[in-house]
Amino acid sequence: MLWSAVKVAARAALDFALPPRCAGCGSIVGDVHSFCPDCWKQIEFLGNSGCTTCGIPLQATEQDTCGRCLAQPPRIARSRAAVAYDDLTRGLAIRLKYGRKVAIARTMARFMAPLVGEGDERLLVPVPLHRTRLWSRGFNQSALVARELSRRLGISVEASMLRRTRRTPPLKGMSPVQRRKTVAGAFAIADRAAVAGKTIILVDDVLTTGSTAEACARTLRRAGAARVELVSWARVVKPSQLMR
Ligand SMILES: [Zn+2]
Ligand SMILES: [Zn+2]
Repeated sequence: MLWSAVKVAARAALDFALPPRCAGCGSIVGDVHSFCPDCWKQIEFLGNSGCTTCGIPLQATEQDTCGRCLAQPPRIARSRAAVAYDDLTRGLAIRLKYGRKVAIARTMARFMAPLVGEGDERLLVPVPLHRTRLWSRGFNQSALVARELSRRLGISVEASMLRRTRRTPPLKGMSPVQRRKTVAGAFAIADRAAVAGKTIILVDDVLTTGSTAEACARTLRRAGAARVELVSWARVVKPSQLMR
């Protein structure tokens, strides 16, 4: 009784003197960086299932790789997202983006870390913001997550290797072709030697159509990266693609 009280007190002190709260709704939970049972039930964890390349849930007729990846292998050799994008998981991304909540980055990294592929010569590279956006916000949310992933996995993070050379408008509402055109050539590599031969693990918060990540991958491969992978917190999945 007394010992458990001491343990709780010690953990509370470590956790900024607050009891752990559900990252979804804020109710008090027993474990740090976790979700309450109600939120847990609502979240669609994607994990390592789905297409071995792009990670989207497979149709009954497909085996390990989806038809699209077979027809045209994407530049990103392996994409994984921890959860499907919905109101709850979007809420976390928004609180991280505008609130600089390191606890949120830790929660995301906890669920993203197991999805990072094995291999040598790996580097974590957050999808960059343009410097004007970085200045106005003060931080890059994907870099916060990359740092937490680095702590968990022991892989170095290179937050300034990939730069966004021009500001791009929000891609929401654009067709896939418009998106591709908008982000084409928007990225550059600071030090090509640091990329050559490496497996780059791009880190992003939310994956929608993937055009931004594809443009990053294109730049990285041109600079000599051996392989580009992507790990994100949430991805947009059509309800019909989820097999509940
Ligand atoms: Zn909750
Ligand atoms: Zn695929």
